[in-house]
Amino acid sequence: MAQQPLLSVEEARARILAALSTTQSEIVSLAQASGRVLAEEAIARRTQPPADLSAMDGYAVRADDVANVPAQLRVIGTVPAGGSFDGVLGRGETVRIFTGAPLPNGADSIVIQEDTARDGETVTVNEAAQRGQHVRVTGLDFRTGDAGLPAGRKLSSADIAFAAAMNLPTLAVHRRPVISFFSTGDELVPPGAEPGPNQIVSSNNAGIAALIAEAGGIPLDLEIARDNEDDIRAVASRAADADMLVTLGGASVGEHDLVQRALAPAGLDIDFWKVAMRPGKPLMFGKLGTLPMFGLPGNPVSAFVCATLFLRPAIARMQGGDSALHTTLARLGKPLPANGPREDYVRAAFDHVPGELPVATPFERQDSSMLSVLARAGCLVIRPVGAPAAQAGESVTVLPLRP
Ligand code: AMP
Ligand code: MG
Repeated sequence: MAQQPLLSVEEARARILAALSTTQSEIVSLAQASGRVLAEEAIARRTQPPADLSAMDGYAVRADDVANVPAQLRVIGTVPAGGSFDGVLGRGETVRIFTGAPLPNGADSIVIQEDTARDGETVTVNEAAQRGQHVRVTGLDFRTGDAGLPAGRKLSSADIAFAAAMNLPTLAVHRRPVISFFSTGDELVPPGAEPGPNQIVSSNNAGIAALIAEAGGIPLDLEIARDNEDDIRAVASRAADADMLVTLGGASVGEHDLVQRALAPAGLDIDFWKVAMRPGKPLMFGKLGTLPMFGLPGNPVSAFVCATLFLRPAIARMQGGDSALHTTLARLGKPLPANGPREDYVRAAFDHVPGELPVATPFERQDSSMLSVLARAGCLVIRPVGAPAAQAGESVTVLPLRP
């Protein structure tokens, strides 16, 4: 492979995002819409509330009638939620009303029941009412034709409740991209198998599948290719119908780093294959024919960090969603040495401190094979290229891992 200058993380991500297109839209029910990305604006099909409604249990009154309290009013009816009062409220009259019930004609305010005393057909109001108090006026929440939710919105449970209220039983969302992936390595067996004397369990397949699903993609596990070109090509060919291929391992420059060699005759067109970061320098991005393809390093922590920094945003972009990394500030719990020419992603404990910045405490051991450390990490401390040594208590940028 010809030498290439190292790309910055930012530049690599920008090139990846620019190379991807969004999936088509599909219609899903609200029950399937959580976490999906809206493909079209959601437009209200009704006005809410549809009429002036009471916001409280109490009495519907004319504010003028209760300007001087205590005031006695004659109860001429009752109106529950979903019901209606057919008459018109006249001077000195009131209607017993419940939350969500329509305001009777002639009434303009609600007095809450706690401010009243009832005696048969008479009620004594002990607090004056501001005109309009405790009334939800027609269209307070939204009106027919309002743009409720924008395209590109990743749907939360609140958004789904809102869509239901707008009387939208289905929504147009982007199809979840199918992300196929496989590991390479003669040393690998799947979890649950009995590894031979020099074998290890593949952790990357299960981990990447979970990450893809979390990001909104559909994981397609093509399992493990042996360290030979024919097997790698054969396994990769099973990705043909996916939206993307991710290979894990065999991505650096060792003798067994076969992925690029194996896939070159199958139409691999490399955009870049080295990024100035640690862990994860041997990150490859390109196309296999028309299929966007990532080559991630095999070391489990490197694979995870690269997937977090590049694959997650890529999956978001393919769904038309927010592909930004949501970093935040934290205080260092321990000093860090000066950084070299690669952006460093330091695994750290992440502790919330009420009223202050959270504290990020880097772990002693940063070996890119150590999943026990990664699993305990709550964030990655981002050390820019050439950053000077940092003291405990200094504020640093971190990428939280458990939002
Ligand atoms: P490679 O990129 O193939 O040179 O692999 C780098 C290191 O990661 C080696 O120690 C591999 O054994 C290890 N490795 C590769 N793939 C996996 C995997 N799927 N699960 C766990 N470790 C792996
Ligand atoms: Mg290998």
